[in-house]
Amino acid sequence: MKIGVLALQGDVREHIQSLSDCGVDALAVKTKQEIESISALVIPGGESTTISKLARSFDLFDVIKDRIRNGMPTYGSCAGMILLANKVEDAIDGQESFGGINMVVRRNAFGRQVDSFETDLKFKGITEPKVRAVFIRAPWVESVGSEVEVLAEITDSFGVNHPVAVRQANLLATSFHPELTGDNRVHRFFVENICRQLATF
Ligand code: GLN
Repeated sequence: MKIGVLALQGDVREHIQSLSDCGVDALAVKTKQEIESISALVIPGGESTTISKLARSFDLFDVIKDRIRNGMPTYGSCAGMILLANKVEDAIDGQESFGGINMVVRRNAFGRQVDSFETDLKFKGITEPKVRAVFIRAPWVESVGSEVEVLAEITDSFGVNHPVAVRQANLLATSFHPELTGDNRVHRFFVENICRQLATF
């Protein structure tokens, strides 16, 4: 199984390493042909506005959006989560997402004061110990539709819970960056529970 990491901007190398550690063939993708030839896709962390603009300029936006809609297993971390959201709050004017997950995501939700931090999270479907989660100018999920399964949540300073890992059918998204910790259990969850079950080639 060939899993592509969208290589327009962001921490591509780290995702390739995490996927390779899970025993799959992982490669950087940035052409239409490459995107058509992969079984599954990872959209890395970085800057969602830049990734979507570059996807438009390189004429990749529609092929990615169509493949996602047609069931290609896709995992987005951080900026990648934003790009998989049907609706984005605090987006810049005209910011586009590929969409696919019926959720509203707020960009930079943790605010300037705590724009980067780490914590341990319970992750549904991953057995203990908890997953070390690195948040960097991260989004959180404001609301989800009934078809979206919440896999992990974080409590904000007002005691309100916000989803930070979600799954809808072929799509997985996390607000945080498991590719930066050397713990590949989230990637393994994607490979075993989504790619191996749902990839069509
Ligand atoms: N704040 C970034 C954005 O809006 C995401 C940050 C990240 O991917 N680490 O795209």
